[in-house]
Amino acid sequence: MARNALIVDDSGVMRKIIMRNLRNTGVSFDHIFEAGDGMEALKILEGNDVSVIFSDVNMPNMNGLELLQKIKETYGTGKYKIIMVTTDGAEDTVKTAMESGASGYIKKPFKPEDMVEYLKDLL
Ligand SMILES: [Mg+2]
Repeated sequence: MARNALIVDDSGVMRKIIMRNLRNTGVSFDHIFEAGDGMEALKILEGNDVSVIFSDVNMPNMNGLELLQKIKETYGTGKYKIIMVTTDGAEDTVKTAMESGASGYIKKPFKPEDMVEYLKDLL
């Protein structure tokens, strides 16, 4: 089975940073998809096999919390491992995210080690 990841962030620069860090974790992925907002992310999930999602919170069109909610409604909470990438780690945001099915969160700026924490079962 292919092992694919999805990075969701409205900043192209941030997607590249997340991508580079993800590649530096040592966990290998067949493909790493990129989406600029929640709407794009949902489209990718519809047509592709994805196991891990790293998602920004603040995005236009559909933000990270709305995306979580939509994934929960559509696929339930067990299908994807979803890690939120936050700027401030604001307690409210994190709490809402965890209640909506996120597996955890990492705070920008982060290191590959912070990501590995959530990828251990894939090593
Ligand atoms: Mg953003």
